[in-house]
Amino acid sequence: DGAADSAEKHRISRDDVVVGQILGEGFFGEVHDGVYKSPTGERICVAIKTCKDCAADVKEKFLSEAGLMKNLDHPHIVSLIGVIEVDPVWIVMELLEHGELGNYLEEKQYILTMPTLILYSLQISKALAYLEGLNMVHRDIAVRNVLVASDECVKLGDFGLSRYVDDQEYYKASVSRLPIKWMAPESINFRRFTTASDVWMFGVCVWEIFSVAQQPFFWLENGQVINQLELGVRLSKPQHCPPSIHSLLTRCWAYEPRGRPTFSQLVCSLSDIHRMELEQ
Ligand code: ADP
Repeated sequence: DGAADSAEKHRISRDDVVVGQILGEGFFGEVHDGVYKSPTGERICVAIKTCKDCAADVKEKFLSEAGLMKNLDHPHIVSLIGVIEVDPVWIVMELLEHGELGNYLEEKQYILTMPTLILYSLQISKALAYLEGLNMVHRDIAVRNVLVASDECVKLGDFGLSRYVDDQEYYKASVSRLPIKWMAPESINFRRFTTASDVWMFGVCVWEIFSVAQQPFFWLENGQVINQLELGVRLSKPQHCPPSIHSLLTRCWAYEPRGRPTFSQLVCSLSDIHRMELEQ
């Protein structure tokens, strides 16, 4: 049984984890850095997610993110190392030393080159093409949910809102937590989340990358966004965004979900653009 194997593989002992400093505050509790000693004796730098008020129903939600990540294996998706299911519950993941892409873009704005920004976009599109192949939707694609491993490598993290497409469970996140300014019109209007709505969000995330992590539609209230989208208003080309990238974004923001490219198509286009940028 594959599922049981993978649950077994990810069960780790608290004795093998040394907790370090606080990295940040997650939705469920603090996230710490630390070191994990693997069964082979290797010492791995990790991020440890904790769950503060972890009653049974909260615990189930907290662990559901790890449950999804157990089945994923991709160079541009943060990998799960293990779960400790007895209280206090911990989720142990690979550590991405440079933290959130949004902050990193601001810190390194005068150093990061155009090919590197295109490379980040390409890497995120590859992670999402992998999820597309698994029929999984992410639902929260934004630079705050992309982590930086090195100057040349970013990874998609935070599967807190992810679901398998065929999962019929009603989406219960409170309205105030929804990332409205990143969302496709059908997600705002009907809470419809599909791979095509992930493509829309990916477009907004690439816009953030080329805008040095400005907030999309910062000039609007959440409640005004859908009206603007229905009037045909879209985010405009960031100053340093190549026209070829902006024209891809425009396609990601087609009002009709079927009018948008797929992630596999986006990977092809972004690979071409990246190659041409390097040749210049
Ligand atoms: P949640 O999704 O539960 O709200 P996040 O995933 O946003 O929590 O994590 C909170 C913070 O912890 C993030 O802002 C990030 O700085 C840090 N963090 C989370 N996961 C990692 C990781 N694997 N490596 C490095 N830092 C991380």
